[in-house]
Amino acid sequence: MISDTIAAISTSVGEAGIAVIRVSGPEAISEVERIFKSKTKLSEASSHTIHYGHIYNPESGEKIEEVLVSVMRAPRSFTTEDVVEINTHGGVISVKRVMDLLLLQNIRLAEPGEFTKRAFLNGRIDLSQAEAVIDLIRSKSDRAFSLALKQVDGALSRKIAELRQILLETLAHIEVNIDYPEHDVETLTAEFIKQKSSFVMEEITKLLKTANEGKILREGITTAIVGRPNVGKSSLLNTLARENKAIVTDIPGTTRDVIEEYVTINNIPLKLLDTAGIRETMDVVERIGVERSKTAVDEADLLLLVLNASEPLHDDEIKLLEQIRGRQAIIIMNKMDLPRKLDMDVLRQYVDEQSIVPMSVKEQSGIDLLEERISNLFFGGKLETQDLTYVTNVRHIALLNKAKKSLQDAYNAADQLIPIDMIQIDVRLAWEQLGEIVGDTAPDSLLDQIFSQFCLGK
Ligand code: GDP
Ligand code: ZN
Repeated sequence: MISDTIAAISTSVGEAGIAVIRVSGPEAISEVERIFKSKTKLSEASSHTIHYGHIYNPESGEKIEEVLVSVMRAPRSFTTEDVVEINTHGGVISVKRVMDLLLLQNIRLAEPGEFTKRAFLNGRIDLSQAEAVIDLIRSKSDRAFSLALKQVDGALSRKIAELRQILLETLAHIEVNIDYPEHDVETLTAEFIKQKSSFVMEEITKLLKTANEGKILREGITTAIVGRPNVGKSSLLNTLARENKAIVTDIPGTTRDVIEEYVTINNIPLKLLDTAGIRETMDVVERIGVERSKTAVDEADLLLLVLNASEPLHDDEIKLLEQIRGRQAIIIMNKMDLPRKLDMDVLRQYVDEQSIVPMSVKEQSGIDLLEERISNLFFGGKLETQDLTYVTNVRHIALLNKAKKSLQDAYNAADQLIPIDMIQIDVRLAWEQLGEIVGDTAPDSLLDQIFSQFCLGK
């Protein structure tokens, strides 16, 4: 089915140290051998061995690079094909020279995601695992990383397989009894369908419950820092970012007027947004400040409203306090090191005591309390996720919902003693919808769409 050999640079370009070029396909070993010289001939090398040597231009005899080459023979490789990995010294130019030479052989440049796609097409991983590879590449916190890793490992796939097996047995049961129109048999079969479909529905509900937490773990809780100019928003963002070593830091582009920073507080990844940004230095800021805060308020999972404790509440702040009613919010009374002018009684009319955190970013006080409040808001302060299978992918969530609905239809039909061959259709549909999660029943167009999300070299 797959007959050509592909190659791509697998490490991100520009990364220091080494770079890896991955070659996969039936001719991976023989084609690399044409440009590689070492003590052992690659074609005679055993699987999972590493060889020191040099890349040569076979025509001119010119030495191109000093490299380490590893050989993984089919089927014990990521793609299940013969795979050769060339480790070079990393510089952009040397990697490119080796790559160019490879592409002059009987090897073509891999499309984004093509290695993973081959792993899928060759049955090495299922679709949900392939998607987890995308998540792995994109994951922004170490927690998200371990979630994705778990999915690559197949935790979700196993759960889906288990549920599909139950549905398959239900279908078999229906099949056996479909030809017995006696009333008793029909009632018993209906009972059986109700029991099985409600069990699977409950399991799906459990999986779906993890979806929201999973999304948070993967993408971070979108947290908007809002408030009037000069209250200390940027100072707070910088403090939180410094104290909680961000794993990935997004440097703001000049086109955006919101600054983003990823931090991890007590294991919870937050995507912090400073809504102040660039335009703050302008005079018009009083006017647009509230406007922009509004959008941030609408989109955030969590709001940190910063107030200046050394000044009375401003009208704009009262507007903000009204806006955030009923939302997950923490009110930060900053600048507590200065004489206090903010009237607590007025503030208490809008928010309850527990959501107020007195603080001085300048003197670095109140930060522990803020962090504690944040982790209390989510997951009741502790985040024990090791044993749960998390569903984080929107496509999986949609399919789980569809399957649940099909099972509800089956359940209702069985409850009304509708002929079982009608019910069979719904159970079968649920079985197919779950199958689409792992790629068993997924159409080609979907596959193309999923694999096109990969970056080159994966
Ligand atoms: P933003 O406009 O809300 O982002 O406010 P900034 O973070 O830029 O801070 C505005 C000014 O307030 C700066 O001069 C900060 O040094 C100062 N500031 C921030 N936090 C505190 C604090 O807790 N106490 C005092 N006294 N000054 C602070
Ligand atoms: Zn600022």
